[in-house]
Amino acid sequence: MYDIGKLKLFFLENQILFVVLAFMLVVIFAYILLYLFRPKYKKIHSLNLYGVVWEWSWFEGKPVGIEAYCEDCGSKILFDDQYANMGSDLNGGMTFLVCKNCNNQEKGHVKGGDRKYVLKLVTRQIMIMKNELK
Ligand SMILES: [Zn+2]
Repeated sequence: MYDIGKLKLFFLENQILFVVLAFMLVVIFAYILLYLFRPKYKKIHSLNLYGVVWEWSWFEGKPVGIEAYCEDCGSKILFDDQYANMGSDLNGGMTFLVCKNCNNQEKGHVKGGDRKYVLKLVTRQIMIMKNELK
């Protein structure tokens, strides 16, 4: 039933295939190791702040692609910062965090600036969390 000669031929004929398979295994193993021993902070991807959930990815140790989501329905939060630059003093402005899916309900607000300002505050908070994990 079992022909050693044929088996040898099979291996010889498929050498490239085995080399490729071995290479793929090494790459997969390396990825698993990198994943298991990744820095602690990389495990954090979300934060509850200002009444909404913030999510992001890590790139070169910094949070990127920061987005806000509704705590109740999970929809993306809209930034209403048309009043951000109003007010008599510098701290008078306000950015509202609104969920369209929840009847345009205000989920939270941040005093003192516009969308960019809010993202700056959130980024700062994320970096504080990161540094606490070290
Ligand atoms: Zn919602």
